Amino acid sequence: MKPNKEKYVYFFGDGKAEGTATMKDLLGGKGANLAEMTSIGLPVPPGFTISTEACEYFNTHNGNLPKQLEDEVLNTLTRLEETMGAKLGDNENPLLVSVRSGAAQSMPGMMDTVLNLGLNLNSVEALIKKSKNERFAWDSYRRFIQMFGDVVMDVPHHEFEKALQSVKDETDKVFDTELNVDDLKEVISRYLVVYKRFTNEEFPTDPKAQLFKAIIAVFNSWNNERAIKYRQMNDIRGLLGTAVNVQTMVFGNMGDTSGTGVAFTRDPSTGENNFYGEYLMNAQGEDVVAGIRTPKSIETLKNVNPKVYNQLVEIRDILENHYHDMQDLEFTIQEGKLFMLQTRNGKRTVFSWLRSQVEMVEEGLIDEKTAVSRVPAGEFNKLFAPILDNNDISNKNIKEVAKGLNASPGGACGHIYFTADKAEEVAKLGKSVILVRTETSPEDIQGMAVSKGVVTSRGGMTSHAAVVARGMGCPCVSGVSEIIVNEKKKTMNIGELSFNEGDYLSIDGFSGAIYGEKIAVKPSEIVQVLDGTMKEEDSLLFKNYNKFMNYVEDIKQLGVRTNADTPKDVKMAVSFGADGIGLCRTEHMFFGGQRIQSIRKMILADNLIEREAALNELLPMQRSDFEEIFRALDGRAATVRLLDPPLHEFLPNDHTSRHELALDLGVSVEKIAQKITELHEFNPMLGFRGCRLAIIYPEILKMQVRAIIEASLNVQAEGVKVIPEIMIPLVGNYKEFNFCKKHALEVIESIFEERKESIEYKIGTMIEVPRASITADEIAHEAEFFSFGTNDLTQMTCGFSRDDAASFLGHYVGDTDKQFYDYDPFATIDIDGVGKLVQMASKLGRSVRPTIKLGICGEHGGDPKTIDFCQKIGLNYVSCSPFRVPIARLAAAQAVIKNKK
Ligand code: PEP
Ligand code: MG
Repeated sequence: MKPNKEKYVYFFGDGKAEGTATMKDLLGGKGANLAEMTSIGLPVPPGFTISTEACEYFNTHNGNLPKQLEDEVLNTLTRLEETMGAKLGDNENPLLVSVRSGAAQSMPGMMDTVLNLGLNLNSVEALIKKSKNERFAWDSYRRFIQMFGDVVMDVPHHEFEKALQSVKDETDKVFDTELNVDDLKEVISRYLVVYKRFTNEEFPTDPKAQLFKAIIAVFNSWNNERAIKYRQMNDIRGLLGTAVNVQTMVFGNMGDTSGTGVAFTRDPSTGENNFYGEYLMNAQGEDVVAGIRTPKSIETLKNVNPKVYNQLVEIRDILENHYHDMQDLEFTIQEGKLFMLQTRNGKRTVFSWLRSQVEMVEEGLIDEKTAVSRVPAGEFNKLFAPILDNNDISNKNIKEVAKGLNASPGGACGHIYFTADKAEEVAKLGKSVILVRTETSPEDIQGMAVSKGVVTSRGGMTSHAAVVARGMGCPCVSGVSEIIVNEKKKTMNIGELSFNEGDYLSIDGFSGAIYGEKIAVKPSEIVQVLDGTMKEEDSLLFKNYNKFMNYVEDIKQLGVRTNADTPKDVKMAVSFGADGIGLCRTEHMFFGGQRIQSIRKMILADNLIEREAALNELLPMQRSDFEEIFRALDGRAATVRLLDPPLHEFLPNDHTSRHELALDLGVSVEKIAQKITELHEFNPMLGFRGCRLAIIYPEILKMQVRAIIEASLNVQAEGVKVIPEIMIPLVGNYKEFNFCKKHALEVIESIFEERKESIEYKIGTMIEVPRASITADEIAHEAEFFSFGTNDLTQMTCGFSRDDAASFLGHYVGDTDKQFYDYDPFATIDIDGVGKLVQMASKLGRSVRPTIKLGICGEHGGDPKTIDFCQKIGLNYVSCSPFRVPIARLAAAQAVIKNKK
């Protein structure tokens, strides 16, 4: 229903409401649910909601309210007064109200609550008569002045606290509850002085003036810094503003038969179907939140007031059956009578999401599609990561010492080492290692693979360390600028603190926190079951995960492959449900064991014969690596990319290693130094890499193609299906592709000829150069598949270096005034720029070859928003690191649901 803009105020009360739960955008979450609860007959104190459209008007008209709003508010107030048989702030029979903000999505950071609005020196007397409780009435007035001053007029909170404390000191009292009526009157007179000093005006006595000031303060709070920051951090976009809820006050602080509390219909931490909540008797809402008194568990309310407890349990069922989701509710008991003040979908951990949704499906409360659409894909990876033991942190009172980017999730604890070699050495001795580097490079991969966690002082979310660590499922905190590493001295400093090699460090890849001490780490149960160290029947978490992923599988359409280059990663990805390999970066396979020396020999070769000899050393190693990978894939397809990085990355960059290499290969150190100089490039990412290597040195391509095809035939002979797909990197021009394909075909045909057997295969390309996107039709004549390498495509389209952009990109995305990009373009595809190229290339490719297979294998392949885009433009699959496979599967299913709506 399109809301009528002539109406800004929506009444609820006495079992009738003008709003419904579906009107969240207009009434905010709180307002819409107050209306809904009223309509379904729950005991909600009557009131009204001023719509978010009024806030939008206010924000776009220099802080003026819409013309008719005042009349509308006053008319609805009259209706409320008639319903309640009381008048706002009346001297005889006062109605008191609360004023609260409430946007469509829950949003801390905006204006808090004002309670007891309508009180003044006259109405407080009437409240005394009505409540027959003088102390309660004066205390309510005191609280109102403080809240109104603090929340509406920005009077510093501590000034009120100071005034309160001064009266306590003078009367020798410790707790607020000890203050008697005279003391409270004294506090009030001091509060009024504080108020005037900071606002230059008297505290408003006219209840209607109080109300309008509070409404305006709520609207203003929509654009305060905290609220803007919160929206930004939580990716809340496109809302009109906040609504304002004005609601009849009910009092939880009217004595021992009154109270207030919050509850969840299921456990927000574990998801267990268990009523979970806390309450305080003789208290107002802020007392529960403030933590001055320890609230009691909801269970104990059974003894204090069984009638109210049973009513709450009944309401819990009504709400879940009505909303079909776990609710987070607030209630107040006024002199033994229960009132509902709020209900909303409960915030919960991903563990709670999973369990609550699976159990709701089994209870028949929701269908599988609903369950799949709700679980936040962005948080799904938390299910698989080891976690720092929070009990250990709080028991030992451990504080974080630095903070960086939460580059790869998981908790890790170990001894710090500053080089990959040392990490490998001590890991072999069974030590847990945290590798700390200024930044990492491909040479560090082995060291990273054996580390429990990786920390770098430089680099962003797509730095080498971040990408590789995520790929390995290794916790990583990158860009911790406070850390200064001194590799030579084997020390690091964080501010005043200094650490030596071997000292303990704990890291939290979920939050980016670094701790300078030992903290216990617990592995994920799901991973334990998948790797066989835990039995499925012993893990409820795994059982729920398994059921949930079956729902996902039934819905999703996109294939989900993995970026993996070791059998271990492939096995892990397959256990996570990967459909195959979307990107095997063969260069990663060159670093292990003897391989690195052979590739260095190949680089240092003076002529073709020497080069071929070195490549012949590599051939059997590559072939057996591929064989193992194909076996691990067990019939799934494998896209194998030919060598991509510039060759200098394979040569050692420190003096000692160069000497060792010279000795090992029997060449002079000078020759190595000269080669390094020769290979030096100012901009290697745009230099001699990708298919350019294969074009200048076709023998490298030939060796790799031979290894792939021979391995395929060997594993096929074992009875395992193999689907090899050979991928040429960094093509920008169809002639480059055709050149490489021609050489590949020659090798393949000669192998088939030699062995008198064959296998089906594909040859395709990565699309990672803008020119390739623009001329994709020309390339598609010969290429059987495209895999969009959106890391390089983003780098080259936006002109942002993958390795250097972190220094400014944070500002481009994170600063409130410079939202040049909505999201980090290396994490979420830049739909309007890079995305357009992907879409265009897909269309051009299909125009020439309708069956062309299209996928994405950049880091974006595991990002839910990008996956949604891939579903929209009709790609065949996404490919991402093994640990992101479950997220990608979930996001792919959610994209189907979303795009069908
Ligand atoms: C890419 O560029 O997106 C890609 C997958 O290749 P790499 O990250 O290895 O350059
Ligand atoms: Mg690339």
